[in-house]
Amino acid sequence: MKRVLVLEDESDVRDLLVLHLKREGYETEAYEQAEEAWLSLQKSSFDLLILDWMLPRMSGLDLCKKIRTELHSQTPVMLLTARAETLDKVIGLEIGADDYLTKPFEIREFIARVRALLRRSTPVIDATLAQSTTPLLELDEKGTRIFLRKKELSLTPHEYKLLAALIKNPGTTLERSTLVALIQGPGVAVVDRTVDTTLLGIRKKLGTDSDLIETVRGFGYRLRNAS
Ligand code: CA
Repeated sequence: MKRVLVLEDESDVRDLLVLHLKREGYETEAYEQAEEAWLSLQKSSFDLLILDWMLPRMSGLDLCKKIRTELHSQTPVMLLTARAETLDKVIGLEIGADDYLTKPFEIREFIARVRALLRRSTPVIDATLAQSTTPLLELDEKGTRIFLRKKELSLTPHEYKLLAALIKNPGTTLERSTLVALIQGPGVAVVDRTVDTTLLGIRKKLGTDSDLIETVRGFGYRLRNAS
C-alpha cells in the first residue's frame, strides 16, 4: 500500500485531502505542523509528500529543502499554495518539488496529480537511479556554470537557466510552460518556441551527449538519468 504524508495547517483542507486519499486506497498520515512532519519523516518512509507551502512557523518550502538536503530523500513532493506567481513556481521547482498545485483546486485534479506522481517513481526505483547516475553534467550554482565531462560549457543565460532546471530535476519532465516561466523576466516576452530554440542550442553544445535531454512529446523536456 502506498503511503502518503499530508502536511496542511487548515484542518478542513487537511481532512478533505485525507478523505479522498484514503478513498483511493492510500495509507495516509496527516500533520498540522512542519516540525511534526519532519519527526515522522525521520522515522518512517513515504511514497509521496503533500506539503502546504504557507505554515505558521517552518514553511512547506523549508521542509522540502530539508528533506532533499538533510535526508537526501528523492520522495516525490507536491507543494500546495495559495500563491500563483510564476516566480514562486520556479522557486518550488528549484528546491526540488516535483509538482505544484495552486489553491483553490479541484479535488479531481489533486487526485489525478497524486496518481501521476506515484506512477512516476517509487522509492525503490529512485534509490537505484541515484546510485547508477554518473554526473556527466555538473551544476555549479554559485558560479552559474555547468560542466559537461568536467569541461565548462559556454552557455547563454537562457540556456544556463533551462539546463540548470533540468539537472536539478533528473528524470522529471519539465513542461514547456514551466520552462517558459524560468526564462521569462521583466520586459522579456517568451513563447514556447523560445524554449524549443534554446533547447536546440543546448543540445548542439552537448555534442555527442545531446541525447541526455529527451523530448517528451506534447509536454516538454527531461534529463535522462545517465549511466
Ligand atoms: Ca496554510
